[in-house]
Amino acid sequence: MPSYDPNNIFAKILRGELPCYKVYEDDKALAFLDIMPRAPGHTLVLPKAPARNLIDCPAEDLAHIAKVAQKIAQAAMTTLGADGVTVQQFNESAGGQVVFHLHVHVIPRKAGVPMKPPAAEKEKPEALEAMARKLAAALT
Ligand code: 5GP
Repeated sequence: MPSYDPNNIFAKILRGELPCYKVYEDDKALAFLDIMPRAPGHTLVLPKAPARNLIDCPAEDLAHIAKVAQKIAQAAMTTLGADGVTVQQFNESAGGQVVFHLHVHVIPRKAGVPMKPPAAEKEKPEALEAMARKLAAALT
């Protein structure tokens, strides 16, 4: 497997070099909205420490982002009124990974509403801002 590339887009977000719609942050994890959501509230959870994907991530960091993903899934159910939550995580190109800093997708779902295809449509900034505010408030 190739080594971690510190110039990947999520590394730049983690360093504050690029903006994001932040939903949650602690000393070991950052969660922000996917700018091309497959459903409203689609959130990405990342460890702050460099890890290309699940394969090279220390188990403690993996356990921590699972806990954060659970918090976000709970907020999706309570605050966003989701009927369910899809959690996805891709490893290497052959596994569907596009951005090579480990991230878990937490996707709120409504009954009978299919997910949009990946990277189908960039969400409007106003909608992302409002959603990030709502989720962040539920997670403090
Ligand atoms: P994966 O690597 O798991 O296949 O997916 C990468 C995800 O990152 C996609 O869902 C895509 O929409 C999202 N994405 C790509 N570029 C950006 C970006 O600049 N900011 C944010 N917040 N999400 C991005």
